[in-house]
Amino acid sequence: MAADLSYQRILLKVSGEALMGAQGFGIDVAIVDRIVADIAAARALGAEISIVIGGGNIFRGVAVASKGGDRVTGDHMGMLATVINALALRTSLAKIGVESIVLSAIAMPEICESFSQRAALHHAAQGRVVIFAGGTGNPFFTTDTAAALRAAEMGAQALFKGTQVDGIYSADPKLHPDAERFSHLTHDEVLEKGLAVMDVAAVALARENHIPIVVFSIHQEGELARILSGSGHATIVSD
Ligand code: UDP
Repeated sequence: MAADLSYQRILLKVSGEALMGAQGFGIDVAIVDRIVADIAAARALGAEISIVIGGGNIFRGVAVASKGGDRVTGDHMGMLATVINALALRTSLAKIGVESIVLSAIAMPEICESFSQRAALHHAAQGRVVIFAGGTGNPFFTTDTAAALRAAEMGAQALFKGTQVDGIYSADPKLHPDAERFSHLTHDEVLEKGLAVMDVAAVALARENHIPIVVFSIHQEGELARILSGSGHATIVSD
């Protein structure tokens, strides 16, 4: 184990949208392979990594509700989408010889293991990448909140949130080129400024458990390993 990493044990949140590449929907395997290569590179440094995967590239519950459907059913569909993405991540990790395990918050024993904190800690201790699917297992939550929850349960030293850009800005820098980029913020500042990096429940849970949130670009190849080694670009949200 490397002693000189900024964080030894991390929880990485990968949004579903990160997996779809330019196609606008679904899974672009080349992109998944690239993200997974970054995870393998960070592990090679000695970091212990577990992942919460989103589902927005396939389905979001609010989409059903906005068309007059039932939100809870929509959220169930969204949670199932995260399981599909988790299987894609596991497949890409297996291709490069990295052992992983999918633990779902919603039991589907023919497809993957069910989540328990015991199982998660056990598999992590065995050196496997633990992939958390099914979000929190409850409607009206997001996989961001699931990420803060699993980070606390795993005793992660940081929650890494891979986004489209290299940190937190005062506004979407793709729409507002003059938006201010923050290098450090507190959890309270993120909430007070209403910065749309993670939902309020996720930030509040991280704050309560004193878990730093590291916001970085998931599309910048090798960035995860660079940040763990003390360089790279990120916004750090901490106490
Ligand atoms: N979801 C849910 N409970 C959870 C996590 C997710 O109901 O604990 C549903 C919700 O409908 C959400 C969808 O799953 O829209 C996909 O998750 P999310 O939007 O967080 O994915 P991401 O934006 O990270 O791709």
